[in-house]
Amino acid sequence: MGGKEQDFINEAFDTNWIAPLGPNVNGFESDIQEYNNVDQCAVLTTGTAAIHLALVLKGVGSGDQVLCSTFTFSATVNAISYQKAIPVFIDSEKETWNMCPVALRKAIEDRILQGSKPKACLVVHLYGMPSKMDELLSICKEFDIPIIEDSAEALGATYKGKKMGTFGQLGIYSFNGNKIITTSGGGALVSNNEDYIKEARFLATQARDPAPHYQHSKVGYNYRMSNIVAGIGRGQMIVLDKWIEKRRTINTWYKEILKSYPFISFLAEPNNDYFSNHWLTCILVENNPKDITRETIRLGLLSENIEARPLWKPMHQQPIFKDHPSYLNGVSDYLFEKGLCLPSGSNMTRDQKLRISECLNKILG
Ligand SMILES: *Cc1c(COP(=O)(O)O)cnc(C)c1O
Repeated sequence: MGGKEQDFINEAFDTNWIAPLGPNVNGFESDIQEYNNVDQCAVLTTGTAAIHLALVLKGVGSGDQVLCSTFTFSATVNAISYQKAIPVFIDSEKETWNMCPVALRKAIEDRILQGSKPKACLVVHLYGMPSKMDELLSICKEFDIPIIEDSAEALGATYKGKKMGTFGQLGIYSFNGNKIITTSGGGALVSNNEDYIKEARFLATQARDPAPHYQHSKVGYNYRMSNIVAGIGRGQMIVLDKWIEKRRTINTWYKEILKSYPFISFLAEPNNDYFSNHWLTCILVENNPKDITRETIRLGLLSENIEARPLWKPMHQQPIFKDHPSYLNGVSDYLFEKGLCLPSGSNMTRDQKLRISECLNKILG
């Protein structure tokens, strides 16, 4: 926490705004709009709810196909499943680890050949790294397929100076406990199209028609963020850039302490067009004469009670999703085999960092 969160919560209690609406909800939404330079925002219960509503707004329904990064967290794909739609998995490219433009084009052309055009393209900016937006936007424009950005991990990251989440017709952020800022749980849907966000607010509050009694002509959801939770969000927005700076410093620090091991490489910005929030520092442990693997490092750290995790297991490898169509090139499988997320919390102390670096040098030495 940054310090001001409690003040916003106290204000909500003092003024009795204990509801899924109120001044903190409005304030948090305008903070997000201003920070990302986007016209409209609705804060919601979770990032998953935001993805779900984005798909509903784009009319994705039963049997529709949705192009989706295979290298992601399951929440992205679960939202597609809520609509009984079919995810079409697209593999990664090696530079940003995000959706591969070559695989995307192949998938779209093949799906059209087989009789139906995908309804939307869900692009994920994993670990805070921006995707190759110029290429992805131009392919989707060519085929008239709307882009929805899953920016759950990429709040504050930019591509050519523009914030991730604001390139597509709709974008989402997550404020879950593990993200770069948190409201304990929460999410946001953003767009430059006012109609989408108006409709999102309507659907997120049980789709109540304008009438004195309760009347409904659409299926609604209870997805609106509470005014208490939004108070935490307002406090967190004050420190967001500071937290990003800390994550980026941690990333630079890891590069420094691991620079003498040529078999370790980093997920890194390809050039100055890309600005990652470096939510997590991720490495690849490639072949080396000492046969040190990702698992050697993970287990070595674990024996010192330091947790590191493998990268996200690709969705086409998941038991629940494995039978869906996929357009693969081997990249995400390779990343999953060789990759590791290192401890990256914004609140890591000097002592903790020292312990990590000593432990890494012992394992690798
Ligand atoms: C965390 C996350 C989500 C889901 O957000 P919640 O707020 O936890 O529902 C979706 N996509 C990705 C890539 C995530 O990391």
